[in-house]
Amino acid sequence: MRKHIVAIDMDDTICHLVPKAIHYHNLQFPDRQLTMDQMISFDMTKIWHPECNEDLFFGRPGLYEELEIFDEHTVEEVRKIAQDHDVIIVTAARPSSVPEKWTWLQRWMPFIPFENFFVAKRKTLLNFDLLIDDGPHNLLPAKEAGRLTIGIPRPWNAPIQKQFLMRDSWQGMSELVNRLLAERSPR
Ligand SMILES: [Mg+2]
Repeated sequence: MRKHIVAIDMDDTICHLVPKAIHYHNLQFPDRQLTMDQMISFDMTKIWHPECNEDLFFGRPGLYEELEIFDEHTVEEVRKIAQDHDVIIVTAARPSSVPEKWTWLQRWMPFIPFENFFVAKRKTLLNFDLLIDDGPHNLLPAKEAGRLTIGIPRPWNAPIQKQFLMRDSWQGMSELVNRLLAERSPR
């Protein structure tokens, strides 16, 4: 009997990427101060400074190692989920950030083994039962494929928040995961 596979995103799901990227953008471009409220799309080309680009915003060396944990419940709740289920961490990482992301994961969640660390942009190709993610481009296809989902509410997913079960804290996440999986398909 296989365990349920629970796929968990990294950026802005278990850590805070966009706030830190905004922080460095605003230091570099003091005349264009971005705020989280403006982040209503993954296409930030129209709002960041004209001299900013993907590499500057998301590719700053060391950025992914210094990201803050999502909240004080995140580590313990992921640990609990991993005790009952097959947790895979799935991140659409740029290749240069993969070592930094693995370092971050080892620091905060050393109980996640290397073989459960997936770098993947097309997440629905993976055979997970439940996805925890903030990206509409991941939540929508997962739902269409009949997978269970829990969304993390962020400004960029505001238009789809009513269609999904959303949680803005990791408090109680393991209980919620257990309940959803039990309701769907008891094994
Ligand atoms: Mg994300």
